[in-house]
Amino acid sequence: MTDTSLEIALTKVAKSRLQDTNLENIPFGRVFTDHMLEADYENGEWKNVSIKPYQSISLDPSLAALHYGQAIFEGIKAYKDDDGNAYIFRPADNFKRFNNSAVRMNMPEVPEEIFMEGMRQLISLDKDWIPSQAEHSLYIRPFMFATDQFLGVRPSATYKFLIILSPTGPYFVNPMRIAVEEKYTRAAPGGVGFAKNAGNYGGSMYAVSRVQKDGFDQVLWTDAFEHKWLQEVGMMNVFFVIDGKAVTPSLEEGTILEGVTRASVISVLQEQGITVDERRISIDEVVEAYKAGKVSEVFGTGTAAVIAPIKELNYKGFAMTFDTNNYPVSTGVKKQLSDIREGRAADNNGWMWKV
Ligand SMILES: *Cc1c(COP(=O)(O)O)cnc(C)c1O
Repeated sequence: MTDTSLEIALTKVAKSRLQDTNLENIPFGRVFTDHMLEADYENGEWKNVSIKPYQSISLDPSLAALHYGQAIFEGIKAYKDDDGNAYIFRPADNFKRFNNSAVRMNMPEVPEEIFMEGMRQLISLDKDWIPSQAEHSLYIRPFMFATDQFLGVRPSATYKFLIILSPTGPYFVNPMRIAVEEKYTRAAPGGVGFAKNAGNYGGSMYAVSRVQKDGFDQVLWTDAFEHKWLQEVGMMNVFFVIDGKAVTPSLEEGTILEGVTRASVISVLQEQGITVDERRISIDEVVEAYKAGKVSEVFGTGTAAVIAPIKELNYKGFAMTFDTNNYPVSTGVKKQLSDIREGRAADNNGWMWKV
């Protein structure tokens, strides 16, 4: 699978910053490791693949990505076992998704050897930055953006691909209060909702800020036409436990980001004997089931938080509240996923990719 013939130019830091960094309970996304990977796409090919000291990049003000938004990214986590071996959780799924995003945004695909082998070499080099405490990990951020220096509207001919690494502590998410969104839209069929492109985040921030003024943490996105079919919660996939069965919106309309955590949660639930339905689910169904006392858990899933419990869903002023202290299904999934990732449970699905 790996092509070890890839030549990656390596420049190491003169002195690591690790000694001056406390990896315990480190906040998400603020601290970066010693090195990064960088590659350029020019004249139809990827070149200049290098691993170098983490550093600023200089950009021309006319940079295409800044004006027309060809920018995509991924989020992946690496862990270390008790023997100091580094593992990455399901990176091949992220690699595939990255290139699906690239195709949708009219950007070049990144070859497997650059994405996977580059990531492997970068992580091997900065392995000591992987925190070993429980619930800690090394967050991996691959991303690509358009680099043409040109204000004309057309797909850029040049791109930059980078991978940066950020050690991270437990991502404590307080149980969330969620407003069901009835005005704004994150994704519509035929759009870019399934792609992990930067603009999806930019486009969602106003709706979220708006409900935060009323004390909510996030919105539950609904479909563009009727504002009733449920999509995602904030930038996470959403699950409901209704009548003992797990339900999550199906992917077929292309309006939902196909989360790797979502897929892992579905597998673990099924292994635990819990039925999972991937199907369309409307807010009306949730309200009805709630009134019948059948909704026992609502939670979001994503790489950063893994599982984020939801304590309130508010729809047209009707507050549906949930006892997140009694969330056996999501608590069980979270534990099993942490156990697999941190080496306490068998990895029967081959999810842990040894670096
Ligand atoms: C990244 C992301 C997710 C979660 O995907 P994971 O692979 O589980 O991290 C869900 N929704 C959106 C919109 C995302 O960008």
